[in-house]
Amino acid sequence: ALSDRLSKLVKTMRGQARITESNVQDMLREVRMALLEADVALPVVRDFIARVKEKALGQEVAGSLNPGQALVGIVHKELAATMGEGVSDINLTVQPPAVILMAGLQGAGKTTTTAKLAKHLIERRKKKVLTVSADVYRPAAIEQLKTVTRQAGAEWFPSQGDQKPRDIALAAIDYARKHHFDVLLVDTAGRLAIDEALMAEIKDLHATLTPIETLFVVDAMQGQDAINTARAFKEALPLTGIVLTKLDGDSRGGAALSVRSITGAPIKFAGVSEKIDGLEVFDADRHAGRVLGMGDIVALVEEVQKGVDMQSAQKLADKIKSGDAFDLNDFLSQLSQMKKMGGLSSLLEKLPAEMAAKAGQADMGKAEKDVRRMEGMINSMTPLERRKPDLIKASRKRRIAAGAGVQVQEVNRMLNQFEQMRDMMKKMKGGGLMKMMKRFGG
Ligand code: GDP
Ligand code: MG
Repeated sequence: ALSDRLSKLVKTMRGQARITESNVQDMLREVRMALLEADVALPVVRDFIARVKEKALGQEVAGSLNPGQALVGIVHKELAATMGEGVSDINLTVQPPAVILMAGLQGAGKTTTTAKLAKHLIERRKKKVLTVSADVYRPAAIEQLKTVTRQAGAEWFPSQGDQKPRDIALAAIDYARKHHFDVLLVDTAGRLAIDEALMAEIKDLHATLTPIETLFVVDAMQGQDAINTARAFKEALPLTGIVLTKLDGDSRGGAALSVRSITGAPIKFAGVSEKIDGLEVFDADRHAGRVLGMGDIVALVEEVQKGVDMQSAQKLADKIKSGDAFDLNDFLSQLSQMKKMGGLSSLLEKLPAEMAAKAGQADMGKAEKDVRRMEGMINSMTPLERRKPDLIKASRKRRIAAGAGVQVQEVNRMLNQFEQMRDMMKKMKGGGLMKMMKRFGG
């Protein structure tokens, strides 16, 4: 696959300290192909690559990365930043009822998403929600909204096929006002972008409703053509957000980048199943990984950037292998390593199951505070005490406690924990430790 080729190229770029015009060309060509393969539209790809190139040129390459890896890191970051810009929940800061207008092609997932949003607003935002369908062309569509609205636990406002969409809208707003609804979700007929009469109709609906949110619902499987659809809807309506549906499919989801770039509207939600609870807040960082399809390299880059220092882990492993004692300096460097790797809570997710279960009983916020206190205590020790913890008896403990501003019992507890860790290290020997550290690093 393309990503494999890109990975190979990355490997051949060792030993260069900077991203330069000459080493960046091949890489960018592959990134371009990877994006096109993910169905990002061509003009969007071109713009994006130009932006990345500008950012990348002349950049120093961090630590043990090579320029290729560093570039993938930059691409990933830029992708996530572009797609994640301005992401926020539904805006409801308006005199109720807050009206939300759903727009998009036939089959994009408007009706389904209307109900999913109703559920989201009821459960997460504690709102009283009304839905209405202005899809007068298909009686089945009105019935469909009724069914899914029930599932969402919201109220449905009846409409009929012989009414005008604008009249339906006005009646629904009136009802919502009188019955103190917080939100009115207006589902509309699916339309093809080229159908001018239907585009005129939704423009009129927008003018009538003056919605706080006008959401463009788009199918993530749509591929290259998403750009044309997005352009047509952007020209017709002031879009305030995007919902990307069917992300549970196997597309790479490049439509996200196209649609975001063309409309300028933030991607607010992602549809991840047909079911009523299949709606997630859009996660740009995760989606960037999917579009790029280079999870391995991205993970490596992040690891290096987080400052996980495998060399010092290796040194520690060698030390234990060679029979040297694990001392408080090692303990301290482990503690700070843990902090660098994103805190104990994220570490927990990476631990082997049975260790995680044990650790999970503890309160993680407290655990992180404990780590800081432990560091404080070790910092109050003399170098000799750190190397030979067994020297630390009562009077030394009192001095350390006073220096770190803690009780003597806490020093005891910390020394106990250190001893437990030392025992564990002995049991694991070097190899086991390296494996554990690698796991910690992700
Ligand atoms: P509309 O024409 O825009 O109103 O689209 P619908 O809401 O009727 O959805 C069209 C089809 O797509 C239906 O079969 C939905 O169940 C399905 N659908 C909508 N959103 C999603 C999603 O996020 N994931 C999956 N797998 N199917 C979806
Ligand atoms: Mg529909």
